[in-house]
Amino acid sequence: MKFGGTSVGSPERIRALAERVRERLARRPVVVVSALSKVTDSLVRGAQLALARDSDYENVVYEVLDRHHRAIQDLVPPGPAQERLLSHLDATIGELRALYTGVYHLAELTARTLDAISGIGERLSYEMVAAALDAAGIPAQGVDARGVIVTDETFGRAMPLVDETRVAAARMVQPLIDARTVPVLPGFIGSTRKGVATTLGRGGSDWSAAVVGAALDAEEIQIWTDVDGMMTVDPRLVPSARVIPEVSFDEAAELAYFGAKVLHPATIKPAVERGIPVRILNSLRPSAPGTLIAGRLGGDERGEPRAIAFKKDIAVILIAQPRMLMAYGFVARVFEVFDRHRTPVDLIATSEVSISLTVDHPEAVPAVEEELARLGEVEVLRAMAIVSVVGRGFCRHPGLAARVFQALREVNVVMISFGASDVNFSFVVAEADAERAVRLLHHEFFEERR
Ligand code: ASP
Ligand code: MG
Repeated sequence: MKFGGTSVGSPERIRALAERVRERLARRPVVVVSALSKVTDSLVRGAQLALARDSDYENVVYEVLDRHHRAIQDLVPPGPAQERLLSHLDATIGELRALYTGVYHLAELTARTLDAISGIGERLSYEMVAAALDAAGIPAQGVDARGVIVTDETFGRAMPLVDETRVAAARMVQPLIDARTVPVLPGFIGSTRKGVATTLGRGGSDWSAAVVGAALDAEEIQIWTDVDGMMTVDPRLVPSARVIPEVSFDEAAELAYFGAKVLHPATIKPAVERGIPVRILNSLRPSAPGTLIAGRLGGDERGEPRAIAFKKDIAVILIAQPRMLMAYGFVARVFEVFDRHRTPVDLIATSEVSISLTVDHPEAVPAVEEELARLGEVEVLRAMAIVSVVGRGFCRHPGLAARVFQALREVNVVMISFGASDVNFSFVVAEADAERAVRLLHHEFFEERR
C-alpha cells in the first residue's frame, strides 16, 4: 500500500491511512509512503537558495522542522515513542542543516548532494507514519529503504538493482510480515551498493512501491492517491468523464504519453512484469473501486475504446521527395536527422513519395527543418494536436474507424496513425479543433452506450 504526499499530508490524513491499513491487516500489508505533501519541493528549493548563497534556506529548515514537530505531537501521545520520534526529527533536521551549510559555503550542489537533501522528506515521514500506526493499535515498524532498495549510482534518477533488492527485502522486510508487524518504508530513496543515499527521481515513490512489491512477490500493489483513478477523458474538459475500471499496462502507457498524471506506468513495470496487478485508489474516497492496471486482462476484447486523450502544441513535419518513388534509404536518412537532433518522433504516416510525422518539442523543429530541407521539400504545420482513442483489440475488430470518422465528420483531420499498436488509434487535428474532437469522441464512445 503506497500513500502519496497528499495521503500523508496532515495528521487527519495519516489517521485515515491507518484505517485503510487496519481494514487490510489480514492481507498482511507493507506500507510505502511519500514525504508530506510539498516537503520535497521545499527541500529542493532550500538547496537552490543555499547554492545561490541566500541564507533564506534557514526558513526551509524551520518550516520542515515545524510541520513535522506539530504532526508528531498530534499523532503520537506524549511518552517514550513521541520522544524517540522527536529526537529522530532533531537529528535528521541537523543533518539537513549541515548539508545546506555545506552547499552554501561551497556554492556547489552535485546530484549526489541533492539526493541526500531531497530524500529527507521521506526519512521524516516513514518513521512518523510507523509511530502513528502503532499509536492507533496497529503493530508497525519503520524500515529505512536505504537498506532495502539497492540502486546504481545514477544520482537524481537511480535505477533499482532487482536482485540485490530482492535479497535485502527478504532479510529486512519479510521477517516483519511473518511476525504480523506492518513494515513502513520510505518511498523515493535507496542507496548504492556502497551505502550512498540515492533517489529514484521526482515522483519516485510509486516506483519504490512497485520494486518492493515485486521483491516480496506481493499479491497486489495499491497506489493510494487523491483521485478516483484513471479517467475516460480529462474531466476538466468533459464533465461526464468516468473512471476506467480496468486498463492494461500497454493502454496505461499510451495514456501516460498524453499526460494522464495519476501515475507513470514505467514506474510500475517491475510489478507488472511479475504479474502483480496494480490498483489506483482514492484515499479521500476509499470505497471507490479505483482503476486496476494489469499486464493481461481477462474478459472479452470487443475493440471498445477505453479512453480519449489528446496533446496540444504538436508540430507536423511533411517531407516530400518525388524521387523517393521506388527508392530505398530515404526513410532512414530522414530518421537520421531526428536522431542527430535527439528529437523524438511520435506519429508517422508515409505515402509513396512523402513522409509526415509529428514532434512534440516544437522548439526543436527549426534545426531539424533546415537539415531535412536537403532531403526534400519540407512543410511544417504548427499549433496542431494529437487526439488518441486508446483501447484494446482495435486491429481485430471492424467498425471502429467508421465510428471515429462518423463522429468527427465535421472536423478536419490532418493525419492518421493506425495499426502501429493494437491499443491506439491516433490522428492530428488543428489545436483549435482538438477539444471539440475530444468531446465528440467521448460522446460517441462513452455517453451513448447502454
Ligand atoms: N516525495 C517525492 C517527490 O515529491 C517522491 C514522491 O512523492 O513520489 O517527488
Ligand atoms: Mg508524489
